[in-house]
Amino acid sequence: MRIYDNLTEIQGYLNQRKRSGDSIGLVPTMGALHEGHMSLINAARACDVVVVSIFVNPLQFNMAEDLKKYPRQLAKDKEFLKDRCDVLFVPTVNEMYKDAPKVSIDFGSLGSILEGEFRPGHFNGVGVVVAKLINIIQPDTAYFGLKDLQQFLLIRQMVTELSMPVNIVGCPIIRESTGLAMSSRNVRLSDAGRVIATEIFKGLQMARQLVKNNCTISETKSQILGFYRSVKGLEVEYFEFVDDSMIIQSKIDHQANIAVCVAAYVEGVRLIDNLYLRSEN
Ligand code: AMP
Repeated sequence: MRIYDNLTEIQGYLNQRKRSGDSIGLVPTMGALHEGHMSLINAARACDVVVVSIFVNPLQFNMAEDLKKYPRQLAKDKEFLKDRCDVLFVPTVNEMYKDAPKVSIDFGSLGSILEGEFRPGHFNGVGVVVAKLINIIQPDTAYFGLKDLQQFLLIRQMVTELSMPVNIVGCPIIRESTGLAMSSRNVRLSDAGRVIATEIFKGLQMARQLVKNNCTISETKSQILGFYRSVKGLEVEYFEFVDDSMIIQSKIDHQANIAVCVAAYVEGVRLIDNLYLRSEN
């Protein structure tokens, strides 16, 4: 595995590979790697060169405390990636942002609800860093997890609208055997916290079942919010049904691809999860 922290050097190497006809797959991450990230890396093996980036992007954190507490374990990540990817890109903040960016990316209605509503400025930071990484690496394909569903939909929109020459692939959510969605933030949970956090996915599954049984969205929301309230130590921030245009649904359209999305706090750790109503898992 080649490791670069310098923009010009990684571009030099990748240009050489491109000239030999090799395709490039990019997996952007913020590190503290787990099997969820690994599934993206496995998907990226469809390309000749797999590039993983690790960069805790300060621009996408709306709370200084959250940025400070974000898990960082570069030595462990390097060990994890060894023999699993071809190139690791670990730029410093200074390498990515010599000056604070003046350009911002506004995703309009796509970015104004859910994560956009509760984390002001978050998607601008995501948009800027993903656009930069795509411009630096110039991959044929970039891989994102459906765990961050809104992020995936918004990046796909950005790439389409700005005619960026890259394919965007969305990869399924990888879960612990308990159903808890894998996340770098889970390392901050105690064992008891992990048990509480598994209730998040249970609520999503219950919601899907209620809708299957012809419950309305408002009935389902009130039942599931009641269920979440009954779980001690779980504090829900939002629980919404959305379609692929990030429009909040107030009634079920069986033709639409509807997902139920949740954000909740456990032990002060903010966790997100989602489930497509049509999915079987
Ligand atoms: P992060 O390091 O949390 O910014 O995540 C980097 C990429 O991995 C994003 O595209 C995430 O959506 C994806 N990812 C994180 N956790 C999971 C998971 N449990 N399953 C699938 N993809 C994931």
